[in-house]
Amino acid sequence: MNFSSLDFSPEIQKAITGCGYEKMTPIQEQAIVPARRGRDVLACAQTGTGKTAAFALPILQQMIDKSRKSEEVNTPRALILTPTRELAEQLANTIGAYAKHLPFTIVAAYGGVKISKQAAKFSSDVDILIATPGRLLELVTQCHTHLANVEFVVLDEADRMLDMGFVNDVQTLLKGTAKNRQCLLFSATLSAGVNELSHKLLKNHLEIRVTKANSTADTIEHIVYPIEEKRKIALFNELLEEYNWYQVLVFTSTKGQADSLLASLKENKIPAAICHGDKTQGARRRALADFKSAKIQVLIATEVAARGLDIQGLEYVVNYNLPFLAEDYVHRIGRAGRAGNKGYAISLVSREEERNLDAIQRLIGQKVKRINRAGYEVQQRRALVEKIETEKRTGRKNRSSQTIIKKGAK
Ligand code: AMP
Repeated sequence: MNFSSLDFSPEIQKAITGCGYEKMTPIQEQAIVPARRGRDVLACAQTGTGKTAAFALPILQQMIDKSRKSEEVNTPRALILTPTRELAEQLANTIGAYAKHLPFTIVAAYGGVKISKQAAKFSSDVDILIATPGRLLELVTQCHTHLANVEFVVLDEADRMLDMGFVNDVQTLLKGTAKNRQCLLFSATLSAGVNELSHKLLKNHLEIRVTKANSTADTIEHIVYPIEEKRKIALFNELLEEYNWYQVLVFTSTKGQADSLLASLKENKIPAAICHGDKTQGARRRALADFKSAKIQVLIATEVAARGLDIQGLEYVVNYNLPFLAEDYVHRIGRAGRAGNKGYAISLVSREEERNLDAIQRLIGQKVKRINRAGYEVQQRRALVEKIETEKRTGRKNRSSQTIIKKGAK
């Protein structure tokens, strides 16, 4: 279905055309009409599905349709809560593009920068507020703003906000919003926590799933290279050269691994940068901007940066390590294969990570293609994989299977 079939205002239509969108993505097809009619929505949609437009466009249209109920122009009408500052900035940019021809002021508020600087933004107009829960609670507690005039609420990446321990902050904040506000809850996964939150916050809501829960985009090809942990740097450099990966996002589990990988890439004169929690906000923003503008070829990120980075047309996401939680794999690779483009999720998997891989395969509902690279063979690998398979068949871990691994090992 094309956007032109919806009776969006000319300002919104013009912005959509300016973004180069014609056809709606599945989440947009399902969410926009009910959300525009004011219905609460619970949507299971990953990053990369076009979810930002799915919630932002109907809100913008309603903001045009209904004039402001309150005279307090420095308090928000729409509130979007999101887990990280990177996401808050990204949403502000994306929604800014959708609202380009509208008179609405968009403000982003997040931790890691001086609160006084952000508090000052509330001395003039605020129509749409995009915030991380912790920082917004501080701003509200210190009376820099209030949420009584909020008519539209979006919880973006709700599952991640719960994982990050924001559940109480979110609930406290929403208690301060108008009683008859509309609430749109978007989450990559529908965990028990998300369902519980949705029952507390949503009224007579519509539930939408664009893909089956916890699945990944069909356009992503998953590949695993079995490898010894200590040889990952060598293999990564080799693959980078061989396949000429043009722009690649690499996830490591620890900052130490990120630093070692960066050092080796620098040695090989590969333009690369790091985006992790120890870096200043400015350094992270620069790294992301350089990556987006293709000044750097490799961006190394830890879990902090894992969610929702909107890097368009990304073909390769590499898991230098598998994430501890299988759900995080889905989140990480959400940056590849977006909006119908082909993408590759390449994982370097050590012996110790076989169990994580097994959990990931169960979550995404498919067996991942393995490439055993000559010169990088891993000892006792087959025995371990067989052991995991046996455990799955028998449904338990048993001592005898430990014996099999020893016997089977060369
Ligand atoms: P999101 O899931 O909102 O982060 O969007 C993922 C990417 O898809 C962004 O780069 C959007 O600009 C792009 N996008 C969103 N909706 C559409 C659409 N209908 N047609 C083409 N690209 C889109």
